[in-house]
Amino acid sequence: MSIAENVLRVKKNIALAAERSGRAPSEVLLCAATKMNDADRVREAIAAGVDICGENRVQELCEKNAVGAYEGCPLHFIGHLQKNKVKFVVGTAALIHSVDSVELAEKIDAAAKKLGIRQDILLEVNIGNEEAKSGFAPGELLCAAEKISHFSSVQVRGLMAIPPICASPEENRPYFAQMKQLFIDIGAKKYDNIHMDFLSMGMSADYETAIEEGANIVRVGTGIFGARDYGTK
Ligand SMILES: *Cc1c(COP(=O)(O)O)cnc(C)c1O
Repeated sequence: MSIAENVLRVKKNIALAAERSGRAPSEVLLCAATKMNDADRVREAIAAGVDICGENRVQELCEKNAVGAYEGCPLHFIGHLQKNKVKFVVGTAALIHSVDSVELAEKIDAAAKKLGIRQDILLEVNIGNEEAKSGFAPGELLCAAEKISHFSSVQVRGLMAIPPICASPEENRPYFAQMKQLFIDIGAKKYDNIHMDFLSMGMSADYETAIEEGANIVRVGTGIFGARDYGTK
C-alpha cells in the first residue's frame, strides 16, 4: 500500500467514526506522526491530504523543516519536549501537544514572550497513571491548569493523551472516555488562556475508538507510513 492509499483509507475510517459519534468528518483532524520518515515521504502524506504533520523529535523537526518538508501543512510537536530544547519548537510548531509540567509551560511562556508571540499548547495527561509515562496525573490536572492559566504567552487549547498499550482498542475506551470528561470539566472552569478546543488522542491501533469517545485530533504513524524500522536508525 502506498502512503496515498493509506491516507485515503485512514481518512475514510475517520469519517465513519466521526459519523458514529454524531459529528461531521471535517471536525476530526488527521495528524500524520512523521517520525523516522524523511522529507519526501512527509511531502507524499501532505499531498495525500493529511491535515497536520506531527513531529516528536526536535532534531528531526529542525532538519525536515530546514528543507521545507512541511510546506503547505501545519506542523505540530507531539513528542516529549526537554526544557533545554524549547527554543527550537516555540514559534515553529503551531501547537505543542505534549506539555507535561508547569515548569515546561513556564519555559514555553518565556520563549514565546521573547518572540512576541502566543504559543498554543495542549496539556498531556498520563491517563493510565503509568509510572514510566510523562504527563499530568488526572488528579493534578486542574491545579496545574489553573497555574498555567496565569502564563500570558501560552494559550492552552486542549488535552492530549497516550493511553497504556492494550491488546485491543476496546480496552482503551474507558481511558478515552475519562479524557473527554476531563476536557469537559476543565472547559467548564473558564480559566483565562484556557480553551478546550482540541482533544488529541488515538493512534494507529485505536484512533477509531478515540474518535467515538470524542477525539478531534488523531495521531497516526504506522497506519500511514507502515511499520517503523527501529533496527537501522
Ligand atoms: C509515533 C507516535 C504516534 C503514532 O503512533 P502509531 O502507533 O505509529 O500510529 C502518535 N503519537 C505520538 C506522540 C507518537 O510519538
